[in-house]
Parts: sequence; structure tokens; C-alpha cells
Amino acid sequence: MPKKHIQQLIKRNVRDDAVLQSLGDGLIVIVDVDKGGRIAYVNKVFEDITGWKSEEVLNKSIVKVIPREDKDGKLVSFKERIVSKVLAGEKVVADLIQPFYYVRKDKSRFPVASTITPIILNKKIIGAVETFRDISKESEVDKAKTEFVSLASHQLRSPLSTINWYVEMLLSGDAGEVNENQKKYLEETYKASKRMVGLVNALLNVSRLELGTFVVEPEPVNIVEVAKACLKELKSQILEKKLVITEKYDPGIPSIQADPKLLTIVFQNLLSNSVKYTSLGGKIDLTVGKEKDVILITVADTGIGIPEHQQDKIFTRLFRADNVKQVDPNGTGLGLYIVKEIIDYSRGKIWFESEENKGTTFYVQLPIEGMIAKKGTKELNYG
Ligand code: ADP
Repeated sequence: MPKKHIQQLIKRNVRDDAVLQSLGDGLIVIVDVDKGGRIAYVNKVFEDITGWKSEEVLNKSIVKVIPREDKDGKLVSFKERIVSKVLAGEKVVADLIQPFYYVRKDKSRFPVASTITPIILNKKIIGAVETFRDISKESEVDKAKTEFVSLASHQLRSPLSTINWYVEMLLSGDAGEVNENQKKYLEETYKASKRMVGLVNALLNVSRLELGTFVVEPEPVNIVEVAKACLKELKSQILEKKLVITEKYDPGIPSIQADPKLLTIVFQNLLSNSVKYTSLGGKIDLTVGKEKDVILITVADTGIGIPEHQQDKIFTRLFRADNVKQVDPNGTGLGLYIVKEIIDYSRGKIWFESEENKGTTFYVQLPIEGMIAKKGTKELNYG
């Protein structure tokens, strides 16, 4: 190559390097993605954020240099989260909604927003490039907002209890006989205020789950008993809608170490959804079974189903599908989010199959070892 061209090439390399080094976000180039990921390049911001010098990390395994953890401090394997997506040519994004944490050289950790994209050269994936930034400040603002919601919902509870209490007294005739019309109005007031209690409790649950202040107190629990109790609570709605309920419980289901309150919240939400979203004369099948080392719970209904194009949003906070808004205008879109958080904490899985106007089946898998105890300051509330 003529000397002039070599000089040009060097000049361009130096310029490109200066550009990458000056990038406002941390930058990592990863090669050998299929073999666990090796660091091929990092920039100045990477050094500033993580505390590692470039020469200390080059050619090292990315997993060893900057371990990735979820919000509970559990290590997230590179294989599980990154490899499959990057090798399939997909982008991996983490943000405030689905944050994870990176551990610095000094072992302190910070929440991170990052985008990992495959590097494609001549139609082949030769590695991945990651840009990331420390989102501690955004997380703090988010936390402050959640704390505000928690405080505000807590404050709403006492006036609501007072309303419920006095309406109950009026209805029971404690302040003199009520006529039919008055009774009707009081009943409507009572229903609305009960709904508000449900909403406030759901908001409190969400904030406690997000702030990590919730308590988990496992004890030996008979899951079938919990399921039956939750179904019993829905008896009047089931009768009103003439729903046909089938229950199937494996005889060999052991008691598992679980927090009965959390399990109840799971069953309450899944069962009440299937009752709410199934019309007159429909069917609901509830099963609790044991498969190897997991308990499998299924709740199947012949209800309105979940539109296909909205199925990926079902566990998102506040999300309600278009087809339910008329059937039940009072839902909150918080129930399944809460259920998913509980199941995730319990190291279980939740998923569903659904077809619009045919029905929905929710599946919950819980490990037989049960839930891990967690110290916290606040209990979750029933719906
Ligand atoms: P909501 O208060 O709206 O019921 P959830 O968080 O419990 O909130 O559920 C979120 C959304 O998931 C619902 O609004 C509905 O669109 C959908 N969904 C949940 N369960 C069912 C079901 N059994 N049948 C149809 N749609 C369901």
C-alpha cells in the first residue's frame, strides 16, 4: 500500500478512536458472543463509570469484568439474556422500566440503561456493541415518585375506612330505618368506596413491590385450600353469572413453604379476572397439579380473551386490553402486574394462552421449594 494511503488510514483510525472515546455514554465492543463474550474495546466513559482501565479489561470475559445483576442482586447470566438475542440479530434494551445493575471494580453497583446491538459485517454477526449509562439519578426520581404514591395511598385509607364504617352502620339501620331508595343509594356508595379501597390497596402493593419494602413470611401452606378459599369468595359473582366451575386438584400436592397472603393475592387476581371477563353461562376450570419439582396452577376460562396484538403488554403496569374496557370499566390494570412481581420473586413463571372471544388460560409454575423469606417493613394487601 502506498505510504500516502497508510497515512490516511492511520489518520482515519485515530479520528474514529477519538470519536468513540469522546462518546457521552459508556461503550463496550464485545466479540466471541457465542463463547461468553470477550471485551475488544472500551471507551473513556466506560473507564470513568466502572473504575476499570481499558488495559485491565481488554480480552477479558465481559461477565467477569462487569457482572450484571437484577434488582434483587441476583446475577443475570450473559447467556440467558444477551447471547440468544444478539445472535438472532436482535437489539437488547434495558431501561428504567426493566432496569438491571452493573457492578463496578470496587464492587459497588449502579442501575444501568443500555442498548446492545449486534455488529454485522458482510451479513455475519461478528460481535456486539453496547452503549450504557448510569441511571442512578433517574432511579432516585422514580423512587421518590413511588414513595409519594405509597404515602398518598396510605393516607387515603383512613378516610375510606371511615366512609365504609358509617355506610355499613346506616345500612344496618343503626341510625334509624332507611327506605328503599335510601338503601339503594347507600349500597351504591358502599360499592364505590369498596372499589376505591381495592384501588388504593393495589397502588400500595405496587409501591411496596417496587420499593422492595414488602415482607415475605413463608410457612407451610396447602395451596389447594388457598385456591378453594379464593373461589368461595367469588361465589356470589359466579352464581350471578351462572358460571360453571370445574376444580381439579392432584391428590399428591405437598404443602409448600409460601407466604399465604401472597399466594392468596395470586389466586384472587387470576380467578376474579376469569370471572369478570367471562360472560353469562361460561366455564372456568381451575387446576392445581404437581409436575416434577414444580406446582402448576391453571385457570382457564371461556371468556372474551385477550386480543393478539395486545398480548405482549398484559403484565405491564396499568395496561388493560381494549376489549375489556366496556365489559368492566372499573378495572385498574394493576392486578396482573402485582401477580407477576410476586411470581418473579417466588422464582416461578407465569404465562398465558388466549384467543379473542374463545377464552384465556393462565399458567403459574411455582418451585416446590417455595418462597424465600424476606424482611421488610410493609405487608401486601388483599385486593
Ligand atoms: P384489570 O383490573 O383490568 O382486570 P389486570 O392487571 O388484572 O387488570 O389485568 C390486565 C388486563 O389483562 C385486563 O384488563 C384484561 O385486558 C387482561 N386479562 C386478564 N385476565 C383476563 C382474562 N381471564 N380474560 C381476558 N382478559 C384478561
